[in-house]
Amino acid sequence: MILVLDAGAFFAGFEPLALQRRAYTVPEVLEELRSQSLKVKIALEQHLLEVRSPAERYLKHVQRAAAKTGDIAKLSRTDMAVLALALELASEGQEVAIVTDDYAVQNVASALKLRFSPVAEMGIVRSFRWYKRCTGCGRRYSAAHPRDSCEVCGSPLRLRRRKG
Ligand SMILES: [Zn+2]
Repeated sequence: MILVLDAGAFFAGFEPLALQRRAYTVPEVLEELRSQSLKVKIALEQHLLEVRSPAERYLKHVQRAAAKTGDIAKLSRTDMAVLALALELASEGQEVAIVTDDYAVQNVASALKLRFSPVAEMGIVRSFRWYKRCTGCGRRYSAAHPRDSCEVCGSPLRLRRRKG
């Protein structure tokens, strides 16, 4: 699965070296970050993070969906680009999830039948002291994750405390 990151994922404390899969974002997100952190630079250099602009027709598709759900006024140009990129990657046959805490983005993602995940669920930020860890594959989930077994391998999850 490919992750598409919105600006919120970076502001929440993006940990590119903890990424276990390829992530994408749009140029508008990096512009919003003003000065790129060293971590983001490393992620770009190591191709953990790819930057790509969606084609115009996917932006149009997102605009139409957002107009239908009534979220269009709540979405920034950046939000639309993130959704359009996820749609474009999905249309290429990739399995995609948008990483966002923005309710309007999540709502439009649902309307477009795109998967999304709150930032804290992806195990790429340090905002929580406690987390659940899969005893099988080691994947991390937030402490608030509703299930006690791993979505990937089905092994039990154990609550762990973050060091430091
Ligand atoms: Zn697992």
